[in-house]
Amino acid sequence: MRPILLVALGGNALIRKGQSGTVAEQFQNLTIPVAQIARLSNEFRIIITHGNGPQVGTLLLQQECCSEAPRLPLEILVAQTQGQIGYMIESTLDNELTRLEGEHQKLIVTVLTYVLVDENDPGFLTPTKPIGPVLDQDSLAGRAYPVAQTSRGPRRVVASPRPVTIIEKREIKRLIDMGFIVIACGGGGIPVIRHGRAFQGVDAVIDKDLASAKLAEEVGADILIIATDVEGVAISYSAPDEMFLRRITADEAERYLREGHFPPGSMGPKVEAALQFLTSGGRRALICSIDAIEKALAGEAGTEIVAGCERG
Ligand code: ADP
Ligand code: MG
Repeated sequence: MRPILLVALGGNALIRKGQSGTVAEQFQNLTIPVAQIARLSNEFRIIITHGNGPQVGTLLLQQECCSEAPRLPLEILVAQTQGQIGYMIESTLDNELTRLEGEHQKLIVTVLTYVLVDENDPGFLTPTKPIGPVLDQDSLAGRAYPVAQTSRGPRRVVASPRPVTIIEKREIKRLIDMGFIVIACGGGGIPVIRHGRAFQGVDAVIDKDLASAKLAEEVGADILIIATDVEGVAISYSAPDEMFLRRITADEAERYLREGHFPPGSMGPKVEAALQFLTSGGRRALICSIDAIEKALAGEAGTEIVAGCERG
């Protein structure tokens, strides 16, 4: 069987820096990673996961602008973004496959995915996950929610517990084994806690990189590739001595993480996800720009984190 490749697409990669994030912009941006995934689907069994930070924050703002209808909790908005972005990825992929292969026979499916979290996770105490747009002075003054400084500017933050297990892992594995291209774990998954045999949604957004590593581990993916809006992993990011890394060992990555080179809520969880995936037996873990997925797989772009302590 073809190896399993899990590609995690950044929610921010769908809306590029400086864009307001119209649907037309998001469809246009998606063609860049999706055209590559279409080509790769001949060589690999494919799982696509995606973030939803900008999109779920926008839905929340839209809720708050309307006083006539009852408010929807965050868990429902995460579910909405799985449908919204799943539809956009699925239809774009279908178009790209048609362009490439004509009347193609590939089967694509988006799986609504819940992800179990621990109700005592410390992530519920301190909100860290940035969502929605960068805030201007006016919205900052009138806000009734926590905000944190991010590399893009000030943004709203929400709780982000760690993923414990992907509830639909068996369904997803079955589908990829049957030859489907699967889109799953959108926005990090709908966060749920368990009461006996019942699930209950909670007000949080799980980091999609950590959820992707968990899914990759649970379905036995061979390669995890995290595609975002920078060329790879840098040390001293955005400082004068910034240096992008092409290949680092897990030990080096862990040391840089401890030294604070990879902040929580952005590059931190990507490096952590790559490390977790390698520890769980994954073969290759890569972090690259959405335009360079194929090049990164060929070892010509991005950052590859390799198991062990050999020198990079
Ligand atoms: P995504 O939506 O793809 O998950 P994030 O904003 O969460 O995107 O993470 C990517 C961002 O991480 C980059 O745009 C960059 O500004 C930021 N970043 C922070 N530290 C680093 C680093 N050490 N190397 C590269 N990028 C970094
Ligand atoms: Mg992110």
